[in-house]
Amino acid sequence: MRTAYCGQLSATDVGRNVKLAGWVNRRRDLGKLTFVDLRDHTGLVQLLFGDDRNDLLDAHTLNREDVLLVEGTIQRRSAGNLNLEMKTGEIEVRVERMSIANRSKTPPFLVEGDGADATEETRLRYRYVDLRRERLQNALRMRHRTFKATRDFFSNRGFVEIETPVLTKSTPEGARDFLVPSRMHRGTFYALPQSPQLFKQLLMVGGIDRYFQLVKCFRDEDLRADRQPEFTQLDVEVSFPSSPEEIYALIEAAVAHIYREVLGVELSLPFPRLTHAEAMRRFGIDKPDMRFGMEILDVSAIVRHSGFRVFAEAVASGGSVAGILAKGYASASRATLNQLQAVVVAAGAKGLSWVKVEDPIVSPIAKFLTAEEMAALVAAFGAERGDLLLLLAGQGIAKPLGELRLTVARQRSLAVSGWKFLWVTDFPLFELDEEGNLASAHHAFTSLRPEDIEKIETDPLNIPSYAYDLVLNGTELGSGSIRIHSRELQERIFRRLGITPEDADLRFGWFLQGLEYGAPPHGGFALGMDRLVMIMAGEASLRDVIAFPKTANGMCPLTDAPMAASPKQLAELGIRVEDAR
Ligand code: ASP
Repeated sequence: MRTAYCGQLSATDVGRNVKLAGWVNRRRDLGKLTFVDLRDHTGLVQLLFGDDRNDLLDAHTLNREDVLLVEGTIQRRSAGNLNLEMKTGEIEVRVERMSIANRSKTPPFLVEGDGADATEETRLRYRYVDLRRERLQNALRMRHRTFKATRDFFSNRGFVEIETPVLTKSTPEGARDFLVPSRMHRGTFYALPQSPQLFKQLLMVGGIDRYFQLVKCFRDEDLRADRQPEFTQLDVEVSFPSSPEEIYALIEAAVAHIYREVLGVELSLPFPRLTHAEAMRRFGIDKPDMRFGMEILDVSAIVRHSGFRVFAEAVASGGSVAGILAKGYASASRATLNQLQAVVVAAGAKGLSWVKVEDPIVSPIAKFLTAEEMAALVAAFGAERGDLLLLLAGQGIAKPLGELRLTVARQRSLAVSGWKFLWVTDFPLFELDEEGNLASAHHAFTSLRPEDIEKIETDPLNIPSYAYDLVLNGTELGSGSIRIHSRELQERIFRRLGITPEDADLRFGWFLQGLEYGAPPHGGFALGMDRLVMIMAGEASLRDVIAFPKTANGMCPLTDAPMAASPKQLAELGIRVEDAR
């Protein structure tokens, strides 16, 4: 039906006869002339329907999103008609033949522009119209190139892509499972995988050696803007890794390959590494944004005997005094300082002390500190006139300091463009969950150094593990670990997590048994592909890089999923629904 694409035409095509097919972006009537911008996935071109052709009168009736086939000749636009903002703005197609392949109802929103004329719900309900938008087209095509580059990279290095089951048994990754009732075995349920974790480990037991998969995973969580209940991850596992370094080097090379292929950007390798403890100490967060510095500095030693009781008591009671230097921010208003105070208090700090480095110093705490102490503080931060010091005191101030750092960076627009990748290594093996119970910080299959094994029972919260995260510009892109490959150690971890041997057997017996038949040392990684593409495409929401995403509350406005099952289906499954909502 066509011999050319709209957006690819240019002045070099003048005189050429072309057949085009696409959608009416918009129509303008100028006396007897009709202009139509025709759109396909490559862009727009202007069509001109002349006044000398009765057979083209239908052009007057064309509406947005009608589907049009035309044949015509490319001509240069008249001088007054040039549109330098449009890629094809030097030319137009003088139409000689047209046929309307299909009519469209008035679309619910404009395809041109940024979609701001419709709610997100409407855009998702009519996603097929929304998908015609240039930005979504670009994002989905970039997604495809990213997936292709990923597959090429791993295939070329001896990795095998293997599918793992979707109807399966629970794989704990810290979320709730989506359950699927079994009809043939009434009263039993499959779980959708939160990740292929246990299967990829068994693939290593099965001698596959190097596995990868671009795989859908499912996690039933309360959604936030940056989550989807189903998402795609790059899942990787290798046997006999010499150390976590081998995994870092592999994943870095994959990411560098993707950036080169998809964006033409050369990343510098290796990515920096920071232990979890160091990340918390220097940045107050386990996924530091490295696009700016503003590192946390502990100044306890300077103020431990200070006349400012808040500082002295914080240090005396085992806490600390630490802060950040906000360059050139002595201009911060009282309202801004109050805002920063609110941020740290919400994050668990008692309060915020500030020092404006001016001549003389402006600070509510100046009168409590000696001139020497104040000078030592200013010197420790390397502060100069016009800078602002922000200080917290007490226990557990790392996290509030981390929030403070991010807030100031936002206010000061410090996070400028760039790709700052970072490995955060040696995550703790255990942490306390919201109820104060011991939980795995990564997942229960993560290994630890032999010398720390005895601490599992005696000092569980002080065990660094072989778990690591890849961080990009302050966002966690993925996680992985070296795994436990001995049944005995795995059971010991389960026990510590409060999983009884009977329960472990019921839930994971199938997997534990695999560890007894020659499980090799192994380790791996998983990387969130939706998130990677989102960041590469410069989008703010995962929904912008997924063709048919769910809303923030897990609904699909296009299909109206999830929906009630019919009484017949429920009867077959032996399920009765109470409290339907
Ligand atoms: N299964 C983990 C996850 O999905 C990743 C890994 O440890 O390889 O987060």
